[in-house]
Formats: sequence, structure tokens, C-alpha cells
Amino acid sequence: MTPWFALEYNDKHKFWLQRLFRETGYFRQIRATGTIKNPVVHLRPMNIFQANKPFLIAGPCSAESESQMIEIAHAFREMPVNMIRAGIWKPRSRPGHFEGRGEMALPWLKQVKEVSGKPICIEVASSEQAELALKFQIDAIWIGARTSVNPFMVQEIADALKGSEMAVLVKNPVNPDIELWSGAVERMLEAGLTNIAAIHRGFSAYDPTSVYRNKPMWALPIELHRRYPELPIFCDISHISGKRNLLAEIAQRALDLDFDGLMIETHPDPDQALSDSAQQITPRQLGQLLDGLTLRRAGKFDSLEIEQIRQVIDTMDAEVVDIVGKRMELVRQLAHVKLKHNMPIFQKERWQEIIESRTHWGLKNQLKEKFMLKLFELIHDQSIQTQIDELQQMQQAENKD
Ligand code: PEP
Ligand code: MN
Repeated sequence: MTPWFALEYNDKHKFWLQRLFRETGYFRQIRATGTIKNPVVHLRPMNIFQANKPFLIAGPCSAESESQMIEIAHAFREMPVNMIRAGIWKPRSRPGHFEGRGEMALPWLKQVKEVSGKPICIEVASSEQAELALKFQIDAIWIGARTSVNPFMVQEIADALKGSEMAVLVKNPVNPDIELWSGAVERMLEAGLTNIAAIHRGFSAYDPTSVYRNKPMWALPIELHRRYPELPIFCDISHISGKRNLLAEIAQRALDLDFDGLMIETHPDPDQALSDSAQQITPRQLGQLLDGLTLRRAGKFDSLEIEQIRQVIDTMDAEVVDIVGKRMELVRQLAHVKLKHNMPIFQKERWQEIIESRTHWGLKNQLKEKFMLKLFELIHDQSIQTQIDELQQMQQAENKD
């Protein structure tokens, strides 16, 4: 990500280098080459998003008023918030909703920076907005999910930021497409930007039964990490959750998966927020949420890898159980239809068709025929039993009437 540069190393340098590391922490990565007599140290400036782990970005969904932003700035002064967020231009899915205060909010953010002493980030979705962010000395911008989905817009922003020092956070696109997400990161790298991080904010899917606003699909950020091991990845727990009661659980999961930081929408008065009211929390609640999180001990990298895979397996198993539950719900509906048409519960041809298609799908996924047979015998037996129970209940209800 950031370029390496080399320094010839002697005892005089040693003193200064040690001070530099100790007092500023600025150079994070060090590599040595050369000979023992004439060593050369290679230094690389730290990506600003690695200044702290977990790195915490907090602030309201939208900058609504000067007083709201100043209140947030005061509240965060003594809190472990590393960067303050605020949406200026809000990409709303439907027209007629609050679309942000726009340019007029930019001077407020300058004050927020002065009061809190913390860097500021905003969302930009066009080259004009990126230029305004540069003009108002905003420290970082994020590319939202509705923008990272569009390579034209991402490129436009990358071109506007080229040659600047702007730090960039790339949110995943709305749809679960790892190529689009990687591509957006690559466009920023190609523009010569070095302070880059990704944000996982979940993926949209039409599923009214889902508890999430945007499904986490943890396998995708993990794949991004595999592709770019040096890229810090943050988790925007607010946009995944969509509601307050899920925040802590998702934050803990992100930390367990070794994410580098969190983005959490925080508002002085969430119930009155002009956007994303249900998922925002107060600074006080933010403090409580942070207190409840467990940080993993450093230095457990081997087991961490196993743990990461296990976390994904856990998520997938939860999805499997969810799907089996939904399948049984459909089976109950089927029992009603069968009763209406006076059909038998068990139909041999249907069972034959199930075994054939499922074993065939299994083979395509490297799952043995014997395993698929066992699995679907179990599921099918349970489906038959569920239908029998359902019928009995319906008949009992009819007899009562
Ligand atoms: C936001 O961060 O307020 C936002 C609009 O995010 P996303 O692009 O993830 O929906
Ligand atoms: Mn929001």
C-alpha cells in the first residue's frame, strides 16, 4: 500500500530512529537488508487507519445542524473515538427523505475538528463532492455502498483525489460482488492514494425474514482480507444491524474475526435523527457498548486463523438451520393444500425426484451420494412427520368445531 523507503543505518541513526519509533509511532513497518556491517533499514509510513486497533469511527448518520455536531464533538473529546463521521450528502433509496445539508455543513465539521481534536470523515459520491472535501480539508472520505457498485463513479472520485493526501474508506457495494469491492480499492491504489481501508457494511437481499438490515455474509470481507492482507478492514455494525439491539453482537463478532476497526453511528438524540434513527445510539450508549466488548489477546495468530474459519462456519450453520426451519414452514403449508385436495402425504414419485436431484446437486459440490441420501432421508422424514402432525391438528380443530 504505502511505499517503502530505505535508510543507511549507523549508530548515529539508531538513536534517532529509536526516538522516532518510541515517540511518534509513525513508522510502523520495518524491514532490514544489507550486511551486518552495513545494514539498511527500510521504513514504511503507517497507514493512518492502523494508528489504533480497533480503530473506532463514530458520529451521526447525517450532519443535521451545527449544534448537533458540536454536541457530538464535545461528547467524543474524552472517548476512544479515532475519527468522527458525518454524512453531508445522503444517498436515500427513495425520494422525499432528508438528503443531507450539503456544502453548508462543511464549515461545521471544521469546528468539530477543533473542539474534539479528532480527524473527520464524510461520504462523497462524485468528483465535485471529492473536490469540496479537499477544499475544506476533510481528513478522510468514504465511498458508500451505492457508489462502490459503480466503477464510473469510483474512477471519477479516484481521479479527483489523485495526488492528494486524502485518506479513503471503501465500503462494500450493495450487492455481494467481491470483484466490485476489490476493483474500487484498486482504483484508489492506482490513483496513488496510500491511506486506504475497506468497510464491511453488509449486503442487501430481498428477505423480509432477515434480522439484519444488510446481511453480513462474513465470507466476503474474509476473502477481501485474503486478497489484500495489508488492507485494514473495518466493520460498519450500524448498517449491518439496522437496529440498536443487534449492534453489540455484531461488533463482538467483528472483533473476534480480527477486523481492524468499527464504524458506529452515534447521535446526541437518536430517536429524533433525520436518517437511520433506529440504528443510532447516544455517545453514552456507545461507551457502554465498547465496555461490553471483549478484545482478543494479541499474539494468538495461529489459532486466530482457525477461529476466523470457525466464525464463518458458525455463520453458515446458522444460515443452514434458518433455511431448514423455513423449509419446514413451507411443508406445513403443503399439508394444508394436500388436505384441501384430498391428496396423500407421501408420494413415491416426489421422493424419487428429490433423491435424484439432490444427489446430483451434491456431486456438483463434491458431496458424496451416500451423504446426500442420509441428509435428505432425515429432512424428508421430518417433513413427513411435520405434515402428519399438522394434519392431526387440523382434524382435531375441525372435530372441535
Ligand atoms: C452511511 O454510512 O450513512 C451510508 C449511507 O452508508 P452505506 O453506503 O453503507 O449505506
Ligand atoms: Mn446511515
